[in-house]
Amino acid sequence: MPTDPLPTIDHNLCTGCRRCVEICPTQALAQIDEKAHLLHPELCTYCVACQDVCPENAIALPFVIGFGPVSPPTPPHPTESE
Ligand code: SF4
Ligand code: SF4
Repeated sequence: MPTDPLPTIDHNLCTGCRRCVEICPTQALAQIDEKAHLLHPELCTYCVACQDVCPENAIALPFVIGFGPVSPPTPPHPTESE
């Protein structure tokens, strides 16, 4: 199972307007049979441009919430007044 998030295209909503294909800076998208496809997922930089430009809201980019190491709280600076 792939672990990287990728844009998903709802082909029931896609009208094949090509706006996403033309705006994609890495040519990750292509139009096949009048529908947009993520033909080269390895090229996707997750820039969100395709989702923003789609007039049909056919493209979804799932958000990924990562949990990294938690930094210890920073101790307060010692004050000279005490
Ligand atoms: S911009 Fe939206 S409607 Fe147009 S081709 Fe891309 S996915 Fe389909
Ligand atoms: S998120 Fe950006 S790089 Fe990925 S397919 Fe959409 S426009 Fe292309």
